[in-house]
Amino acid sequence: MVYPIVKYGDPVLERDAAAITDFDTAELHQLIEDMFESMYAAKGVGLAAPQIGVSKKIAVIDTSNGENPDDKMVLINPQIVTVEGKQVGEEGCLSIPGFREQVRRGRRVTARAQNAKGETFEITGEDLLARALLHETDHLNGRLYISHISALKRDLIRRKVRKLAKAGEWT
Ligand SMILES: [Zn+2]
Repeated sequence: MVYPIVKYGDPVLERDAAAITDFDTAELHQLIEDMFESMYAAKGVGLAAPQIGVSKKIAVIDTSNGENPDDKMVLINPQIVTVEGKQVGEEGCLSIPGFREQVRRGRRVTARAQNAKGETFEITGEDLLARALLHETDHLNGRLYISHISALKRDLIRRKVRKLAKAGEWT
């Protein structure tokens, strides 16, 4: 099932999501399937559960946009272990459509997470994958990418979003 994407302004996006404690359940497998479906429908490379209104620590990533099944990744209760180097590049978010900003991130990132069975694994990514690991883990801690840009730029986005919301164009 494809869920609508929750937009910036909804408090679920800025709440620390709950850790997942029940693994390998039908409910969890369904959630993962729905998250991939919703992410592909929205043409994103990553999606965190709060973005479909589910305040749980689970995210999916596919930096190939559905082109390469090997790139499909499920991260449950992820934590960033190491961050090395720097990259500055454009970043956007399905929950803040229409906006993109230059964001400074680590270039090589290792995250530790659990899979659907509850097994712990580590994943190291560079460049786009490093950015996605940081972006999605942030989501699960209630943090959006705009917290990494200047207050000036953030306020500008807030004002524009408020205007769109007033016009009924931010739902
Ligand atoms: Zn996002």
